[in-house]
Amino acid sequence: MPLRALFGPIVDFALPPRCPICGVTVVGDNRFCLSCWQQLDFLAKPWCTACGIPLVFEHPGENLCVKCLVDKPDHDGVRAVVRYDDLSALIAMRLKYGTRLGLAKLIAGHLQKYVADCHEGSIIVPVPLHRSRLWRRGFNQSVLIGRELARNSVMIMDYDVIIRSKVTPPLRGMSGTQRRRIVDKAFELRPDARLALAGKSVVLVDDVYTSGSTSNACARLLKKAGANQVLVFCWARVISKSEHV
Ligand SMILES: [Zn+2]
Ligand SMILES: [Zn+2]
Repeated sequence: MPLRALFGPIVDFALPPRCPICGVTVVGDNRFCLSCWQQLDFLAKPWCTACGIPLVFEHPGENLCVKCLVDKPDHDGVRAVVRYDDLSALIAMRLKYGTRLGLAKLIAGHLQKYVADCHEGSIIVPVPLHRSRLWRRGFNQSVLIGRELARNSVMIMDYDVIIRSKVTPPLRGMSGTQRRRIVDKAFELRPDARLALAGKSVVLVDDVYTSGSTSNACARLLKKAGANQVLVFCWARVISKSEHV
């Protein structure tokens, strides 16, 4: 029997679980308090099947936003838990800088509901960090989320099938073409990637989906290695003012 089950009430008394955003005590581990829960903007259907932004109406047939009607992304959809805002950014930052590693479990718990959208035998691939960042930080937040997702599903994780060979500068303010040129040079496939991915579906895990440049670059590589579908799973999705909501 796990120690927590034996000594649960004593442990709970000594270290009561707290809301990962505001710190008030809550009834169980890895939960938000009611107030923070109500303030987070959880994303739900209808959304664009290609890029994941919320839509006002469900469209008959393929549900695409105006942008994706013209130019579809290279991945096959985004499953984000929440809209990126000050509150959800706090969670992403706390996970990224290591003060609340249990947050990976919380995020993976929320992503679990999207596993039903994945093909059987899908492989979890976290967006990689460059080794210099990995050495400095000690862990990759996407690997932590992917590991928790794999722990509670039948999917397995292949954490280094994509390698980040170059550090990318901040992409803010760059045109789509500039971003693509930079990110395409930043990633490469492990030499045996085709063996691992041919004919498989992939769940690409990231903490935050910003412009989609990174996810698209990874999806292009995964498909080059034979993956037949790439779904992006992330904690928060940035929805810019120019995007149709
Ligand atoms: Zn709270
Ligand atoms: Zn779209």
